[in-house]
Amino acid sequence: MAIHKSEGIILSTANWSESSQTITLFTPDRGKLTLNVREARRLTGKRGRPMTFARLEFSYYLREGGESGYLSDVEPVEVFLFEKDGQLGRLTFASGALELLNNLLTVSDPQPVCYQITLSFLRMADSLDKNRLPGLFAGYIFRLISLLGFRPNLAGCAGCGREATAEGAEPEANGLFFSIERGGLICSDCRKAMPGQDHLIGLSETLRTRMLALMESSLDEAARMAVPLSELNEMMNLVTALLKYHSGTIRPLKSFDFLEKLTRAVKAYGG
Ligand SMILES: [Zn+2]
Repeated sequence: MAIHKSEGIILSTANWSESSQTITLFTPDRGKLTLNVREARRLTGKRGRPMTFARLEFSYYLREGGESGYLSDVEPVEVFLFEKDGQLGRLTFASGALELLNNLLTVSDPQPVCYQITLSFLRMADSLDKNRLPGLFAGYIFRLISLLGFRPNLAGCAGCGREATAEGAEPEANGLFFSIERGGLICSDCRKAMPGQDHLIGLSETLRTRMLALMESSLDEAARMAVPLSELNEMMNLVTALLKYHSGTIRPLKSFDFLEKLTRAVKAYGG
């Protein structure tokens, strides 16, 4: 076994017994990495609870060509406690983001840009005013899915390439349609050409404009946008439907329960 050094963000920890723990990390150089943790190295956060939101520097042993190993030395270098006002909302957005990330990342697939953006997201979720969290979260999710190859096409029709508009061609329709199968907007002609072929989600022009703006924004710019919760929910419904269809790594839907949690959490802090 060879020893390696890296840093990483904790995606999840699982305690199998008193003496057995595994930890799944997002590392800039290897993508997702799962390590066994021996009792003496066991990671615990405040008051003995498992540590969840942290950046670690660590060394680990990995069998050549193997995909899992065990943790040797570990040092938390940044811990995100989410203790500022709006704690529940912060925790919910951060856990939702990391759950999604954990589902989308694969082993031995380095994603250094995605790693840096995730760190920035966690820092900002820990420190920004709570009213900026919905914009931050939405901005992060769109950056994430774009980097990982699931960017929705909102510019033109995914079928014929023509500009898809809410008005004009289809006065009776109060909005646009997004095809989950094709990963983009779909015009009325293409839609009529293939009736019943597509899983479609209605989209207002307002929502499309907002999503386009979020996709063009830095995290800081996204966090300055006032994104109403109703819009955030609509966006997340679209994103999760898109990912469920297109990503082979998405596991059963438990991972997306955060949408509901998120709505409850934000209601709880009056956002
Ligand atoms: Zn078309």
